[in-house]
Amino acid sequence: MTFTALASSSHGNAYIVEDSRTSLLVECGVSYRKLQSLFRLVGRKITDMTACLVSHEHKDHAGCYENILAAGIPVWSSDGTAEALECEAMEVFDLPMGANVGKAERFGTLEVLPFRTLHDARRPVGFLIRSAEDGDKLVFATDTANLRYRFPGVTLLAVEANYSDDILSMCTRLPDKVVRRIRNSHMEIGTLCGWLSTLDLSGCRQIYLLHLSDSTSHEEQFLRQVTSVAGGIPVTACPRELKKEEVCSIK
Ligand SMILES: [Zn+2]
Repeated sequence: MTFTALASSSHGNAYIVEDSRTSLLVECGVSYRKLQSLFRLVGRKITDMTACLVSHEHKDHAGCYENILAAGIPVWSSDGTAEALECEAMEVFDLPMGANVGKAERFGTLEVLPFRTLHDARRPVGFLIRSAEDGDKLVFATDTANLRYRFPGVTLLAVEANYSDDILSMCTRLPDKVVRRIRNSHMEIGTLCGWLSTLDLSGCRQIYLLHLSDSTSHEEQFLRQVTSVAGGIPVTACPRELKKEEVCSIK
């Protein structure tokens, strides 16, 4: 399975998850025009995607979902996201109220299991994506204050590393309300490291850090911190926006 980050920040998120037979777009939080140019950069077409998965309704994750639907690609989300976007054309995962994990949906050779995340959105989700083709298991989780699952057998981890509490507490120009919002709805680097240290990562071959904040993260420090708990697994910080020279991708 391959994970390609096209854009990863509060300005916009878009990722491609694929095995040799099926490709999924995960998040569509940039303008459609931008998305088309990012796809051109990696030599792909949006219409190659079997479906688009959206984690929640915020613009930096769902921005151009209407264009994706208009292009004939089904867009999948939780019922809460579809409600918040007032979109009846959206496909909705079976994830009953009160349940943490939903029913898996099959997209060609990829199976997607939605799970609940902790964010200030309407019933947001993350995705566990399994390939029947190569056996890989990828966890995609962004915009979540914490994670409460263990994901045994995970081979690829794409998780949010949004901010550092040390940097945030020194940031005097942010209103208290914003600071509270960040703390309650995004992943702090220490929280991420704490969670990682509870996982069995023996089968994991790559960790991708998503959605680093522009003002309250420190990429090199985050890479060091995660590397120190990741037991030798390579760690990559995804680019805010993919440039010609850098492709955040691994087979
Ligand atoms: Zn959000």
